[in-house]
Amino acid sequence: MPGSEPAAHCYCGHQFGQFAGQLGDGAACYLGEVKVPPGQNPDLLLENPSGRWEIQVKGAGLTPYSRQADGRKVLRSSIREFLCSEAMFFLGVPTTRAGSVVTSDSMVLRDIYYSGRPRHERCSVVLRIAPTFLRFGSFEIFKQADEFTGRQGPSYGRDEIRGQMMDYVIEMFYPEILKNFPDRVERNVAFFREVVHRTARLVAQWQCVGFCHGVLNTDNMSILGLTLDYGPYGFMDRFDPDFICNASDNSGRYSYQAQPAVCRWNIVKLAEALAPELPPERAKGIIDEYMDVYNRFYLENMRRKLGLIKKEEPEDEMLITELLQTMHNTGADFTNTFRSLSQISCPTEGENEVDVVRQATQLLLEQCASLEELKAANKPTMDPRELAMLLSLAQTNPALFQMISDRATIARQLDKLSKLKDLMESSEEQLKVKQGEDWTVWITRYRKRLGRELEGQSDTVTAVQDERVKVMNSTNPRVVLRNYIAQNAIEAAENGDFSEVRKILEEAEEEPTASTSTVRSALPYDSKPPAWAQQICVT
Ligand code: AMP
Ligand code: MG
Ligand code: MG
Repeated sequence: MPGSEPAAHCYCGHQFGQFAGQLGDGAACYLGEVKVPPGQNPDLLLENPSGRWEIQVKGAGLTPYSRQADGRKVLRSSIREFLCSEAMFFLGVPTTRAGSVVTSDSMVLRDIYYSGRPRHERCSVVLRIAPTFLRFGSFEIFKQADEFTGRQGPSYGRDEIRGQMMDYVIEMFYPEILKNFPDRVERNVAFFREVVHRTARLVAQWQCVGFCHGVLNTDNMSILGLTLDYGPYGFMDRFDPDFICNASDNSGRYSYQAQPAVCRWNIVKLAEALAPELPPERAKGIIDEYMDVYNRFYLENMRRKLGLIKKEEPEDEMLITELLQTMHNTGADFTNTFRSLSQISCPTEGENEVDVVRQATQLLLEQCASLEELKAANKPTMDPRELAMLLSLAQTNPALFQMISDRATIARQLDKLSKLKDLMESSEEQLKVKQGEDWTVWITRYRKRLGRELEGQSDTVTAVQDERVKVMNSTNPRVVLRNYIAQNAIEAAENGDFSEVRKILEEAEEEPTASTSTVRSALPYDSKPPAWAQQICVT
């Protein structure tokens, strides 16, 4: 474009735990930066003290870092990135944004996973916007110089460039730190601390909306703590801590429950990349803060999700854990279950507790999985004979066992197998009774806690209840971009009909507090997902 300075971004990264050397954005190309005059930062954009916005096209073709690939993206991946960056933004989760998605007449051949056989797909391009797309991997480029060129001794300028890059990021995006820390080492330490804290808070937000990123390599970790690179991400339907959204993540390295720890691991790699600008012993102390910040933010958010707003109790953590456990046992829908909790009322004098709890149980049972769904979910993906063989190998030759597979995967498979066995012996009615019992226990405990919310309050029960519902509904989204919702829009778009993409965008832009949607989509996106949602496979 006139006046633009197109550029491609060269970076490195640890992918699935291994240093992968030079990557660089093989599919994204900068058109340049847009400077927004002071005071005119559009309020729909992210907090951005620099007033500069990097504009990229993703999928427009070859860049200097495309390697063997073609730099193109297809309609389904562009729509997924476009819709999810916007949906995340309106959920209040820090993220890069998408301005537009444009389709092309060119067709390319892509992987077979999508349709079961190779087929030509329409190319398309997403326009991405962020204060900066710099990432942890941008700083790992200096490791490349050391390990791949074998250069030793003099730094060949990389120390200077590392310093310049840190200067740039801090001056532009962390100006408060620059102001408050005149000493260079202290400034760098403060910068690292801010990145660590932002990352911890970001992951806590992901966990609270049931978002799984899918590819948490260091090259997908934003230096601003934004959600970056929407590939095989997924919002959980049924709650499962082992939820893996990326079908090529065989070991579950990037499963839902692994996200907090894996981001901490990525932070360790960032610290290594920043040395010697960041003294390692100082970095260590800050990395130790990560889990605390994560836990605090997670708990704060979860309390709001449960509507515990008047006081904090140490037992709240247990109540949350038991909620998740009950959701897991009963195969309950993550988003809808949280949304339903606001319909459980605080205890009132003279109420018939048994009736109230029974009604609440009925409400939550609607969000639980059926026998068929649970059976399908607990079908071990590994062949039972192979599993038995691996187990005997684990006993006879532990060293060899460690080499061919990891224990956690086997343990998960075994857990599924034993659950499946129980399910096989159960009828639909027996399952419902069991699920009802589980929920009744939890709801009773929850309402006791809600009762304590009212203790010592001058407000009326109704006032507390109203406030609680308001907080809960603004924290628990009514709709999230589930895979099947995106899939519906993609299939329509592939047939030339983009109206569903627009409707989903409109729906995402609505306040999560809205009790019902005014947008008429093809499907009611706030009800339990259809059976075929379980079959969707994204890589
Ligand atoms: P990702 O797993 O999406 O973070 O990408 C890993 C690496 O592959 C990055 O260097 C990407 O730029 C590159 N890459 C992904 N898709 C393409 C593509 N279609 N053409 C060229 N490079 C790509
Ligand atoms: Mg990437
Ligand atoms: Mg990607």
